[in-house]
Amino acid sequence: MNKYLYDVVIIGGGPAGLSTGIKLAQKGLKTLLIERGRFCGAKNLFGGVVYTSSIKEIVPEFPEVDPSPVERPVTEEGYFFLSKEGVVKILHTKKRADESFTALRAKFDAFLSEYALKKGIDLAPKTKVIDFIRNNGFIEGVIVDRPTSFEDPSPATIKAKVVVIAEGVNRLLTEKAGLVTKTFEPEEVVLAVKEVLQLPKGELEARFGLSNNQGLAVEIFGEITKGLPGTGFLYTNKTTISFGIGIFLKSLMDLNLKPYEILEYAKLHPYFRELFKGSETLEYGAHLIPEWGIKGLPKPYGNGVLVVGDAAGLVNPLFREGTNLAIYSGLMAAEAIFYAFEKGDFTERSLRRYEELFKDSFIYKDLVMLKDLKTFLLSNSHLFQVYPEMIYDICSLYFSAQGRYKRDVIREIFGIIKKKRGYWGILRDFVKIGRFLW
Ligand SMILES: Cc1cc2nc3c(=O)[nH]c(=O)nc-3n(C[C@H](O)[C@H](O)[C@H](O)COP(=O)(O)OP(=O)(O)OC[C@H]3O[C@@H](n4cnc5c(N)ncnc54)[C@H](O)[C@@H]3O)c2cc1C
Repeated sequence: MNKYLYDVVIIGGGPAGLSTGIKLAQKGLKTLLIERGRFCGAKNLFGGVVYTSSIKEIVPEFPEVDPSPVERPVTEEGYFFLSKEGVVKILHTKKRADESFTALRAKFDAFLSEYALKKGIDLAPKTKVIDFIRNNGFIEGVIVDRPTSFEDPSPATIKAKVVVIAEGVNRLLTEKAGLVTKTFEPEEVVLAVKEVLQLPKGELEARFGLSNNQGLAVEIFGEITKGLPGTGFLYTNKTTISFGIGIFLKSLMDLNLKPYEILEYAKLHPYFRELFKGSETLEYGAHLIPEWGIKGLPKPYGNGVLVVGDAAGLVNPLFREGTNLAIYSGLMAAEAIFYAFEKGDFTERSLRRYEELFKDSFIYKDLVMLKDLKTFLLSNSHLFQVYPEMIYDICSLYFSAQGRYKRDVIREIFGIIKKKRGYWGILRDFVKIGRFLW
């Protein structure tokens, strides 16, 4: 058997794996990153928006980099409440235009991997890790889906002192490493589908009222998911739009719904039909989002192994945070690895350092705060059905100026509230939401 020796092997070239690699390279650790895709980003899909503060931790010169890995600065951000008939928009213009950017993963991850290569890590694309080399309860490297040599067709092995699992949401290897007992249940993941739409040339900025260095990021509630617990999203890229939906897998399975049908249905909504008129679908894809929360986190360390990013369940769906948490977890993993190298001890005694750093971080505190999020959303699905319709109906009346006595209009508005949810119902919802967030 062929045996290579690295200090660290990282499985997965998403933001978690790449940030770990970039940080490790700073101290000259011999690091190999293995990515199953043709290049980093080739297989990855997100909304999405990336956040400057986290990227600067690994690429200090960002966003002043050439070529740019991002699309547009997010200058306008907010929510759309979509009813069957129309939309109510709440948008705010951001104080700072450089806090976040829209991005496409094929470009963003590829940029980070080029950067990591320049910093000195090795990269093995088109290679899939299929198992680990184990020795007396220790993980001592990985086994990949490539033959050892022309003469020896058995899978190649690569030895390392520490293996970092950055495989994303599927966490098959995390399970193989014995750090979780099961992958996930349908109520623990959101299934997202997304299309990248190209508008006729020059139309994007005109349709969204943007100049060439402005961008829009919107989350959409209500009819976009047919009122199911989940959201839609719309982000403007340089010349395209990222448009998609994410719905709890359990809700889709219960109702036997296919997410693509819901997305197609959303595109037929009068508002989006007009907005996307003449557009062409360039890409589409589907991906899971981990929502197992703090209660379902894997043990993030073991003897010779650490887990980072989505594989560790580090997503904050309420605040649309994922890539940044992946990056921060990669940095914390690298710190723990430095500590282990200082001590010359790669057992879980040293690598536990990662969990200590994690528990001290805002990521852990946020996950604790949102510990009941999925239960809350799944058991309050009316929030996604009733409110967008009600808000739209109220706005339609309020802004109608139809030559009526305004007290009658206000009475009608109260009538809508009473009919759709009832005053007590609304009060109960506010108390529930308040309690949940506090
Ligand atoms: C629809 C959608 C919208 C989102 N929107 C946003 C957003 O707007 N902003 C945000 O911050 N986050 C967003 N997220 C979340 C964000 O994408 C993730 O949290 C983030 O990508 C996690 O990074 P990661 O490196 O842990 O995993 P991933 O990005 O999934 O990377 C995992 C990598 O591991 C590779 N891999 C897997 N198994 C193997 C193997 N056996 N061998 C070799 N390689 C392997 C994969 O090919 C992949 O490259 C969104 C997610 C989705 C699905």
